[in-house]
Parts: sequence; structure tokens; C-alpha cells
Amino acid sequence: KAAAKADGKVSTVSTAKADSIVLGVTISKPDKPLWPDVDGAPARKIDLARYMAAVGEWMLPHIKGRPASIIRVPDGVGGETFFQRHAMRGMSSLIEQVSVRGDRQPYIQFDRIEALIAAAQIAAVEIHPWNCQPNNPEVAGRLVFDLDPAPGVTFEDVIAGAREIRDRLEELGLASFCKTTGGKGLHVVTPLSDKVPWDAAKVFAREVCARMAADAPDRYLITMSKKAREGRIFLDYLRNDRTSTAVAPLSARARPGGTVSMPLNWTQVKAGLDPTRYTIRTVPALIAKSTAWEDYFDSAKPLKAAIKRLG
Ligand code: ATP
Ligand code: MN
Ligand code: MN
Repeated sequence: KAAAKADGKVSTVSTAKADSIVLGVTISKPDKPLWPDVDGAPARKIDLARYMAAVGEWMLPHIKGRPASIIRVPDGVGGETFFQRHAMRGMSSLIEQVSVRGDRQPYIQFDRIEALIAAAQIAAVEIHPWNCQPNNPEVAGRLVFDLDPAPGVTFEDVIAGAREIRDRLEELGLASFCKTTGGKGLHVVTPLSDKVPWDAAKVFAREVCARMAADAPDRYLITMSKKAREGRIFLDYLRNDRTSTAVAPLSARARPGGTVSMPLNWTQVKAGLDPTRYTIRTVPALIAKSTAWEDYFDSAKPLKAAIKRLG
């Protein structure tokens, strides 16, 4: 649009002022590129803000009430990235600041959709919440099994691993939900209904993974060592600790392509699943008509009973 300035000269601006306000939150430099190529076109800061507005209500119940880290890319993906867990000076008041035992500095927390737009405003592309119960950092609210394939592992093997974790958890009385990570692997997420402290929850997650690795040591391992991983899937149970995080469902990733961590139905977790299909451009329409995770909160089960069954 062309606008006449006070000096009579005409300037061209690609985004009208009104277009840079999303849910009442002003996005400065809305045209700043964040991803060079998302489904054939660059994606800008305003695109991230609109993406957050589109999926924010879906995301919120999974992040609300828990501290969250953010990954910021002030110069876009490919530039320097900043991993940030604490509130900083000048941060929008739409973003909650919460104090947590053991740390004097307040943590960042997203309790309302406008906070997610404020995150986009500071080029915070990724949101990584703690996995505690809301407003209760000491106890496990969900378990996250993070399948990390080493180079050479096919995605079909990752899918098989996710399904096996689901089956093992089901035998222990727990329900689980799968999402892409927007990266190489998959996450299997298990909602919990009780208040088991993190130390016990971590022991449980480790033991489930240890047994799976013991039954197929050629396919899985639970040791961190990068060298030992070759050709196998690292069952990363380490997300299951008090201050550990996992990327939120529907969070975008600071990776090429503008991929998103996409919640799936188990019927979608099969050969042909292509995580690169899920981007900040495609996901708003896809999630609007998806039934993925719709029974997530109703499926929460007590971890105590599962720990007893595991023996
Ligand atoms: P991928 O499928 O490519 O593995 P991912 O999100 O699972 O994607 P991981 O490296 O396996 O990536 O990390 C799992 C989670 O652990 C992340 O989502 C993040 O929340 C947390 N995490 C990983 N690395 C770090 C780090 N250096 N500092 C803080 N948290 C991290
Ligand atoms: Mn991973
Ligand atoms: Mn990992």
C-alpha cells in the first residue's frame, strides 16, 4: 500500500499497520524473515504470530501452569539461536514470570494465548515446557519418551519403536499419544492423573526403556554415548525430570522448512508418515480438522499403579 507522508513523498510498505497487530499484540518488524523457505516461500515474524494465533488455544492446555524454555532466532533460522529459560528485562507482561523452588530467577511461563503472540514478537520460535502437573513442578504430569534415531535408522524403524513403547505402556495401564518432533524422531507422551514425584517417575521411564533395549539391543539403547548409538534408536527417557523439557505439541521448530511438532492419531503413525508435511503453513488447517489427542486429558492414568505393575 502506498501512503503519503508528511513531506509529500509516497512510501511503500508491504504490511499495513493494522496487519501487524495479532490478538491485540503489536508485532514490530512483521516482515522480518524467520525461515528462508517454508513450502516454497519465506516465512516472516508475522506468519509465526498468525500461526500462534491459529493453534494457540490447542497448545495452551499442554503448556499452561508450567515453566517453559524458549528458543529465539532474532536473525532467523540459520542465524544464532538463543535458548532461554528465565524471564529477561523488558519482557512482555503478557508472558508470566514464575518463581520455582531452588532458583532465585523467575522462569518464563505461557498461560494465555496473547503470551504466545508476545513470544512470536521476540522471535521465540520454539516453546519447551516442563512436564510437571500444572502449577506443581515437583510431580510428573506426563511422561515423554523421546525416540532419537542415529544416522542410518529408517523412519519406519522409529515408527515401530514408538508403537512398541505405546504397547508396553498400555500393558502397564497407561495411555499414550504420539507426535512428530519437527525433527528426526518421534515423541510418545503419556498423561498422568496422580502426583508421583519426579525421582520415581524418572526411574519408571528409565526402566520401561531399559527393558525395551534389553529385548532388542540391536535396535535400541538407553545410553547417552553418541558413538555407541550407531544404527540404533536412543530411547531418551531423560525428558522425565523436574526441570527437563520437551518441545510442546504444535510448537514450530527453529529448523529449516518451518516444521512443527505435530500431534497424531496412532492410525497416522505408520509407513508413509512424513513429518516434513507438517509446517507452520499447513498445520492450522490440518489441526482444525484433526481428532488427534482429543481424549488426551480424559486418558490420564495413575503412574503409581503402573509402577506397581512393572514390579
Ligand atoms: P528430534 O526428533 O530431532 O530429536 P527433539 O525435539 O526430540 O527433536 P532432542 O535433541 O531429542 O530434540 O531433544 C529433546 C528435548 O530435550 C527437546 O525438545 C528439548 O526440550 C530438550 N533439549 C534438548 N537439548 C537441549 C539443550 N541443549 N538444552 C535444553 N533442553 C534441551
Ligand atoms: Mn528427540
Ligand atoms: Mn533426545
